[in-house]
Amino acid sequence: MACSLYNYNMNKNSGTKKLFVISGSSGVGKGTVLKGFLEKHPDFMLSISCTTRKPRSGEVDGVNYFFLTPEEFQDCIDNNKFLEWAEFAGNRYGTKKKYIQQCLAEGKDIILEIDTQGALQVKKQMPEAVLIFICPPSIETLENRLRGRHTEDEATIQKRLNEVKIELERAENFDYKVVNDDLQTAISGLEKIISGEQEKC
Ligand code: ADP
Ligand code: 5GP
Repeated sequence: MACSLYNYNMNKNSGTKKLFVISGSSGVGKGTVLKGFLEKHPDFMLSISCTTRKPRSGEVDGVNYFFLTPEEFQDCIDNNKFLEWAEFAGNRYGTKKKYIQQCLAEGKDIILEIDTQGALQVKKQMPEAVLIFICPPSIETLENRLRGRHTEDEATIQKRLNEVKIELERAENFDYKVVNDDLQTAISGLEKIISGEQEKC
């Protein structure tokens, strides 16, 4: 699907690890940890995904996501616009190739915050991508965080909790895991992983 991107990256940045993928179950704190990381490292580019999910209160098109209709999303699939895409808890989410290609061409470090299915698709196409899974301290804490965010209705919360088991199984194929118990410790853990990977380049 994204052979051109893969070849381009391998040719221009052979051996480098510029693409970091952050995944984890809904409510584990991916967005919160990343916000903390990006405040300290504003030079990293965060990919803005496309989704068919409806915007939450306060979410802005083009900032949090590109909010697409199901037809628009399907059109992107049909025209091979996505590096990866997946269906998660009743909605579709995808990463456009174009922005990623641009960042890699400019030698910028880029972070994707995507689900575990998408992360494994990226790794298949770009083995040099670094996959980082954010773990909850416990399933109970995860559920409390998801509910405490007050952004989803009960049916949606259940759909998201139903994904947790398979997400933890997929995490076994990730390069790193970071437990998000104390927030600052999780941010420092992420920083250590990323700077360690950059030193390898
Ligand atoms: P995700 O992006 O993984 O879906 P969020 O970043 O939206 O998760 O976090 C879900 C909720 O958990 C938010 O209300 C957030 O403030 C809270 N949260 C995130 N990390 C922590 C943490 N380390 N300790 C306590 N609460 C946290
Ligand atoms: P939310 O609806 O809570 O914003 O996101 C739900 C899930 O979709 C999260 O696990 C999030 O990481 C994932 N997600 C966001 N963007 C993408 C994307 O572009 N591709 C994939 N595969 N998952 C995504």
